[in-house]
Amino acid sequence: QNFRIEAADGSRFVLKIANAREERAMLEAQQAALSHIASNIKITPHVLRTVAGATIATVVAADGTEHLAWAISWLEGRPLALGTWTSPTLLADFGRQVGELRLAFADFDTPAIHRDFYWDLANGRDIVARFREMVDDAEVGKAIDRLMESFDRHTAPLLAELSRGAVHGDPNDYNVLVGGGTGDGEVESRDQRVTGIVDFGDMTHSYRIADLAVAIAYIVLGDGNPLAAASAVISGYCERVPPSNEELCALFGLVALRLCTSACIAADQQRQRPDNEYLGVSQRAIARTLPVLAAIPFALAEAVFRDAAFRDPVLATKRVVAFLARQLEIPPILGINPQLAPSIVLDLGVASDLISGDPRENTEPQLTARVHDTMKRAGASLAIGQWDEARLIYLAPEFAIAGSPGEHRAIHIGLDLFAPVGTPVFAPFDGVVHASADNRAPQDYGPVIVLRHETDDETEFFTLYGHLSRKSLDDRAPGSIVKAGEKVGSLGPAEVNGGWTPHLHFQITMDMLELGADFPGVAPASQRNAWLNLCPDPNLIARVPSERFPKWSGTTLLSLAKRREVIGGSLSIAYRTPLRVERGWMQYLYDDEGRRYLDAYNNVPHVGHCHPRVVDAAVRQMRVLNTNTRYLNDLLSEYASRLIETMPAPLDICYIVNSASEANELALRLARAHTGRRDMVVLDAAYHGNTTSLIDISPYKHAGPGGTGAPEWVQVAPLPDVYRGEYKADDPEAGLKYSALLGDAIDRVHAEGRDIAAFIAETCPSVGGQLIFPPEYLKYVYELVRAAGGVCIADEVQTGLGRMGTHFWAFEEQRVVPDIVVMGKPLGNGHPIGAVATTREIAGDFNNGMEFFSTFGGNTVSCAVGIAVLDVVRDEKLQQHARVVGEALGPQLRALMDRFPIVGDVRGSGLFWGVELVRDRETLEPAGAEASFVANRMRERGILLGTDGPYHNVVKIRPPMPFTVADAERVVSELARALAQLPPR
Ligand code: PMP
Repeated sequence: QNFRIEAADGSRFVLKIANAREERAMLEAQQAALSHIASNIKITPHVLRTVAGATIATVVAADGTEHLAWAISWLEGRPLALGTWTSPTLLADFGRQVGELRLAFADFDTPAIHRDFYWDLANGRDIVARFREMVDDAEVGKAIDRLMESFDRHTAPLLAELSRGAVHGDPNDYNVLVGGGTGDGEVESRDQRVTGIVDFGDMTHSYRIADLAVAIAYIVLGDGNPLAAASAVISGYCERVPPSNEELCALFGLVALRLCTSACIAADQQRQRPDNEYLGVSQRAIARTLPVLAAIPFALAEAVFRDAAFRDPVLATKRVVAFLARQLEIPPILGINPQLAPSIVLDLGVASDLISGDPRENTEPQLTARVHDTMKRAGASLAIGQWDEARLIYLAPEFAIAGSPGEHRAIHIGLDLFAPVGTPVFAPFDGVVHASADNRAPQDYGPVIVLRHETDDETEFFTLYGHLSRKSLDDRAPGSIVKAGEKVGSLGPAEVNGGWTPHLHFQITMDMLELGADFPGVAPASQRNAWLNLCPDPNLIARVPSERFPKWSGTTLLSLAKRREVIGGSLSIAYRTPLRVERGWMQYLYDDEGRRYLDAYNNVPHVGHCHPRVVDAAVRQMRVLNTNTRYLNDLLSEYASRLIETMPAPLDICYIVNSASEANELALRLARAHTGRRDMVVLDAAYHGNTTSLIDISPYKHAGPGGTGAPEWVQVAPLPDVYRGEYKADDPEAGLKYSALLGDAIDRVHAEGRDIAAFIAETCPSVGGQLIFPPEYLKYVYELVRAAGGVCIADEVQTGLGRMGTHFWAFEEQRVVPDIVVMGKPLGNGHPIGAVATTREIAGDFNNGMEFFSTFGGNTVSCAVGIAVLDVVRDEKLQQHARVVGEALGPQLRALMDRFPIVGDVRGSGLFWGVELVRDRETLEPAGAEASFVANRMRERGILLGTDGPYHNVVKIRPPMPFTVADAERVVSELARALAQLPPR
């Protein structure tokens, strides 16, 4: 039994009272181990002494039994098991610590650990054999049998080769602590770190790799992708200690063995003590996971693990590749010789223009028509689809990857050869038919024939031919012999292609993974390198001239390095691991490996990324005319009228510019021309744009890092923040009271002997933390400003165009009419457009003889785009949609406040929300690092959102408007998952 003891001085330690049967020698061994490894490892507890100086004391229980007791230091943190395993960073650190443990144990030994112990992995196979029949659950039993059958074949022969030594024996997720220690106080790094490994009571002398196997065994119980999670741990481990080849080969088998052992022992114990629930603590997860593991071929796991360990994933690949490269002549595999025929290599990748962002457009016959059209234009009789290409077209459920939201098997690991139906297919080498099948389910992918070959040093490899005619299967029973150059079959029609245009899917495979002819042709990006080694480049055989293939675009790291070389460092990139995006569609973004992200952040693609009506409007107008406002073209006045139509009187004049910064600059000039004054009143934490004057009126910038403060013509008033500010949401007078603070700012200008030109504010401060003003705030403020002779500018850049759901413009909700309205971001759905609306009177004063001209502002294409955006907002009823989704999202977000004390406030409307995180609901200490932690975990789970507010502690949800109620539910459930990983405070 373990007790946490808190001393009067606040110090903590753990008192451990051993079971009466526990041997003293084993306790001494644990203590010896702890002091031995303490010199290497900083994250294990140290042994404390009694007043008399002993490390072990004897205590007597009420019934007279004697127990050994001892005490160790207390480690901060919480068990890893209470998290939800999403973060590769954390898993890698876990791996590093398990590696450290191995290093620390390298020269430790003591007789007590040479024992016959139930949980020793070296006994695991016997334990499973002994208790297997106790397992009642048929599914679990089947999975155990299957795993043990593979274990006996694949793993057992390696066991004698595994190095042995002292091991912890049970670094399971309840014995590993996360997020403790004082560290640098950065949650994003601290909570991504293992800060404790405890409970050395299972120490034995066993396989040194056992600790890694046990660690992984409990990691894969999470709902993440098991091989991906395991890979992260392995990579971390290998940073500290390189496992031997045998250890890497045996690892997956040992992981499976540990879980099978656990299931069998639990089944036995459950029979003996059916009412002891603790015995089954991990069993539900184990029962769920064993069938998943049983479906993973051991050879695949080995390749993935080897890749994670920075080794060649498949040892024999190099030999086969060298053999193929050495062959001067290989008979052509197709009736149209890929080596000679005029051919074109297609781009079917994420950014391909043959592929649409709209999945409905990637069906037949459109796709085939586009491929044929490309071939015709290139005069090619053969088209080639590339190996190692990430594709967006495999979106059917069978391509989804469990535990990795948004990821599909996207990496094509064969070569496609598009040619007419009936084109004959030939064997490149002598071989034997290894497998053949007609794959009709879940979709008809038609006949596949697999040939087995050998290199001159008798290394086996396979070639695979997919989408053949059904007739090709005649006389191709497994075992039949095929000579080099002999016909294998012929290309089948579209029906045997899942409806796609006729083509041969040609693939090389090093290992059939016991999958037979139903072998995958696309692989998950998270296992990319392992699969590319299992299935090396088929062009080693097909030999399409290499210059026809496009240049490799490089890795994300290279892309980052290149950007850093040529782009100023003040341009930041989101996320710890930058996202390399290549395509957008509605509320989704896709990275270069085809992973889909739900964009819950980006308000610029207002009507949806790449909305076809907006794209068409731009393309059409680009073809016809794009010029500036010095000529008459009705699009300018049409667009301006359309914007003005959305505004109340007397806002009936409009200027079109290129950005919101330009629009705010113009707003400043309008106000100054109208009032003849210069001074501005702004709200704290505001951001209005990137130009020199706008930095001056943006405390978010001028009062932040690198800023030089407010100039004398700018007065900053406190934000009317009813959560964090002086007056709270429950104060019915908050609006009035905050406006008085703004009045003070005006008075300060007067005290200097000047008058104000204008007050400017976002109607709902966004970088200020997604705030919603208290009722009537702007009404009172506008009265004060106007009484002082100033004009009122509403920056509606973030909030306009129906985003708030209830109104088209946010100022309408405050029931005010500004003198100047500034618009930006969403106007062009990504095309750069800004706009200013104002009164005829102010515009008249601005027309003082100095011409106003913006070269690109109001150009013909921009106007066409702007009109299309307004059309879509109207036709797709996006404002009402935002209201409906907001009404679903708000209550769900608020419910998080009940579950997580860190969620201090939730506010917003429509598709504009802020979730403010605080470490303490009384002091409101901002939880900025935690917010960043949440944003990074969400990105790992395929959801993009950001953080904002003066303390960067507000999670900002502000998606493109097509975002649905289902998307909202997903965001909330993932938010809950990310929040659950934060330490309780
Ligand atoms: N005003 C507000 C409220 C903004 O959020 C921004 C951009 N974040 C701007 C103005 C400036 O917009 P742009 O970058 O298009 O110039």
